[in-house]
Order: sequence, then C-alpha cells, then structure tokens
Amino acid sequence: MFTRGMDHPDEAAITRLGVMGGTFDPIHLGHLIVASEVRHALELDRIVFMPAARPWQKAIYSNAEHRLVMTALAAAHNKRFAVSRLELDREGATYTVETMTALREFYGPAVKLFFILGADAAAKLDSWVRIEGLREVAELVVVGRPGHTVGDGPTPDSWPVMHRVDVPAIDISSTDLRRRLRRGEPIDFMVTDEVASYIRENGLYVGEEPVDAA
Ligand code: NAP
Repeated sequence: MFTRGMDHPDEAAITRLGVMGGTFDPIHLGHLIVASEVRHALELDRIVFMPAARPWQKAIYSNAEHRLVMTALAAAHNKRFAVSRLELDREGATYTVETMTALREFYGPAVKLFFILGADAAAKLDSWVRIEGLREVAELVVVGRPGHTVGDGPTPDSWPVMHRVDVPAIDISSTDLRRRLRRGEPIDFMVTDEVASYIRENGLYVGEEPVDAA
C-alpha cells in the first residue's frame, strides 16, 4: 500500500497514523512543514501523504503519477514520512471517506487515524461526500495557516475528536508555484531540489495556464 524509505518505523509498531491528503500540484515546503509540525505536536508515528488521483472539486490538475513521484521525492527527506498510491489505484472520483475507511480496515481498531487538512479545506468540509462516514473512522486535525484564523472551519461539536495545530506562517501555495514556473520565475527554496529537478526534467507547468486551473 505504501512506498517508503528503508528507515521507516516498523509497520507493526504504528499506533498513531497521520494522513495528509492533497492534490500536491506540486508539493512544496509548506506541505512538508505542516506534516512535520503535526507529527511532532500529536506524537504521530508516521505521516502518510495521500495524493488525490481525481480531486473532484477541481476542474484541472496535473497527471497523478507525476504528482505522486514529486510527493515521494519530497517525503524521502523524513524517515517518518511515507507516500501512498491508494487513491491512484482506485477508480472514480477521489473521496477521502473511502480512503480512510480502507485504512481503518487495513490497520484495525488499535491504530488511531488522524486526517490532516488546512483551514481552506476544513472550511469546505460540509461539501464533502459522506462526511459522516469520515467522522466515524478518523480524528480530524485542522492546521492554522496564514490568512486564516484557527477558528475557521468545523467546530468541535461537529466532530467527535478534533485537534487544532498552528504552524509557522509559510506563504507558499501550489497555485503560485505553477504561476511562477509558467512565467519562468524562480521556485528555489520553495520546493525541494529533487522536486525542482523533476519538474524541469519532465517539462511540467510550462505553456499557458489552463483557464479553469484552481
Ligand atoms: P492541496 O492544495 O494540495 O494542499 C494540501 C493541504 O496542505 C491542504 O489541506 C492545504 O491547506 C495545506 N497547505 C497547502 N499549503 C500550505 C501552507 N503554505 N501552509 C499550511 N498549509 C498548507 O490539497 P487540496 O486539493 O485542498 O486537498 C486536500 C484534501 O481534501 C485532499 O485529500 C482531497 O482529496 C480532500 N478532499 C476531499 C473531498 C471529498 O472527499 N469529498 C472533497 C474535497 C477535498 P488549505 O486547505 O488551507 O489550502
């Protein structure tokens, strides 16, 4: 189910697993810092980055295999990070509830699952498919980020167990990175060197920005 580095803690030793879903188009240091901060704050054994294959609320996104490889290259910097292709191997629109339910079945009740998401995504949680099913299988981690108060999004009453973690303000966004790349502007120190090389070698984010891009 996972691609991972050789130093990852033994699968059997995991009792607290964080899942960070995203389009990761491309993955950047903001994502990595969020994962690191949440892992530390909640004492998680591992963070699994979960690239969404077909994020149904977005009109346009890059090839999922490219996004997965970039995510794996970035995650390789931390032995407690892993990447899953679970959502790439599933047909149809990508619904988080199906992913987290599959992880719940795989790990069983002894492992606590935490789904991590930023304030923007959290504020739109009501529009997600089968949100009540997600509530049953995972604790929610809402990350405070620049431009948002940590009070945005779901209230504690609406989720059985919800955590809020503040991260340092890292004002990098995938949308801005794609714009920079199309304009030939630098992205140094915003993505890892390996991700920058992969983007360059595969000619990603060149030419006109698609009109409907999020
Ligand atoms: P994304 O843009 O790739 O970002 C991934 C996460 O990182 C988001 O939660 C985002 O927070 C956070 N983030 C990005 N830049 C950050 C920064 N500089 N500082 C702090 N946090 C930062 O992901 P996405 O496209 O919004 O998707 C998020 C997840 O929601 C995916 O797993 C997707 O499948 C899921 N989703 C599910 C449904 C459903 O099941 N029905 C519907 C919609 C989305 P922000 O949200 O604040 O940008």
